[in-house]
Amino acid sequence: NVKDRITVIGSGNWGSVAARLIAINTRTSPLFHDEVRIWVFEEILPSGEKLTNAINKYKENKKYLPGVNLGPNVVADPDIRSAVKDATMLVFVTPHQFIEGICKDLKGKIKPSVKGISLIKGMEVKESGVTLISNKIRKSLGIECSVLMGANIANEIAEEMFSEATVGYKGNKTIAQKWVQLFSTPYFSVTAVPDVEGVEICGTLKNVVAIAAGLVDGLGMGSNTKAAIMRIGLKEMRYLARLLFPTVNDTTFFESCGVADLITTCLGGRNRKVAEAFARNGGKLSFDELEAKMLNGQKLQGVSTARELSLLLNSKGWEDSFPLFTTVHAIATGKVPPTAIVEYSEHVPDEL
Ligand code: NAD
Ligand code: 13P
Repeated sequence: NVKDRITVIGSGNWGSVAARLIAINTRTSPLFHDEVRIWVFEEILPSGEKLTNAINKYKENKKYLPGVNLGPNVVADPDIRSAVKDATMLVFVTPHQFIEGICKDLKGKIKPSVKGISLIKGMEVKESGVTLISNKIRKSLGIECSVLMGANIANEIAEEMFSEATVGYKGNKTIAQKWVQLFSTPYFSVTAVPDVEGVEICGTLKNVVAIAAGLVDGLGMGSNTKAAIMRIGLKEMRYLARLLFPTVNDTTFFESCGVADLITTCLGGRNRKVAEAFARNGGKLSFDELEAKMLNGQKLQGVSTARELSLLLNSKGWEDSFPLFTTVHAIATGKVPPTAIVEYSEHVPDEL
């Protein structure tokens, strides 16, 4: 049997940890070629070195995952086309706003039989409607694409603390099982469910709830308030998931990608952290300014997802049914103060 060759597209915080997990398995499994390629959006480090050269020299991503060895078999490549040329399995893990450009670069440059998986939490909303990122990859590259989402704060997995994740797939269970084999380690427990949209929409929407939870923290409110916000957010997630994708399975919300990811992101994620600072500053510094100041190049997904949601809800006339999602966007754009998160969310419509 021919061994699969893996390329990871993206080398941020989670991209680096994903490459590290995969490299552990490709070193030992007969199913996979040993080397893991990782496409790096090139940049210059403060030392003057190129990030790609530094990853290859030290086997460490000094900017996005400092202090963690990625493994001897991880090879960084700044040229996306050369990085994917021989790949039979592609792992997409960049902030969602960059996926359109990446797909354009990859069109016609990958093997037609390649299998993809998206670890990206986000979506695209245009006049034509909403497109989940895995669907964008499927449509623009003509390949099969599963998803992997879960309660996965990357730095904790880099430290090998026990975590779980969910692979969502459509149709082909054999491929899903291969993805499970590629990612699973004793401390990273992966389960596959045949509900790709359910898994992905959970991962996408919880980032907006995490912004709301961070605002509550920044306002100095207690655990009850935060739990209330998380509960209302979960209900909005489920209601919108059902409206957009009627086949979404309720049990998916009980997998790692559902309520567990919501909890960890609302407790320890970057969206939460920056939203807390936003509320503490009374909205004086914008989310973009705080992201640049606090995250050293890492990107938030919750604020842009709230904007995309607002376009969607507005175009469908659904805003009144989603007070929490709508209010997060109004706060992020300075239309209402951070305190609105509680005032508005108190009026949850009965139909949810
Ligand atoms: P990150 O936010 O740590 O890093 C940002 C990345 O974007 C960097 O690799 C940077 O080089 C790259 N970049 C900047 N400009 C670019 C451009 N113009 N084109 C292409 N790339 C560019 O990234 P991450 O944490 O790996 O996040 C990727 C996805 O994984 C996101 O959707 C995120 O929600 C999801 N995710 C993250 C975590 C986590 O804990 N970090 C966990 C689960 C899922
Ligand atoms: P943040 O981007 O808010 O850190 O969330 C990470 C995540 O998706 C955890 O599963």
